[in-house]
Amino acid sequence: MRFGADETHCRSCQQLYAASDLDRYLWCPSCRREVKRRGSRWGRLVGFVASLGVATYLIVRVHPSPRYLMIYLLMLLLTYILTSRIAVSVTHGYYRARGSVLGGAATEGAE
Ligand SMILES: [Zn+2]
Repeated sequence: MRFGADETHCRSCQQLYAASDLDRYLWCPSCRREVKRRGSRWGRLVGFVASLGVATYLIVRVHPSPRYLMIYLLMLLLTYILTSRIAVSVTHGYYRARGSVLGGAATEGAE
């Protein structure tokens, strides 16, 4: 294994990695995994809250009849899928723009 020329610092955690292990934003696999983990957590939360809001609106304002129950359930499912995907994308974009996925560890060293 060669050292030196092909190694680059991860843009998020500043650890040295082989350049081939980093993605196009210069993030290492563990930082990418952390972004995905946080994105999926926010996605589930936002999707759940949005679905709960739509369900509340349907119950309070629309008074759904049992006849169209499957359509209402499908509406809730699609609300969950759509809003959670949007939240995942926004979370990924936020951490990529911020340049670091690490909580306090990266900023403590800089200050
Ligand atoms: Zn990293």
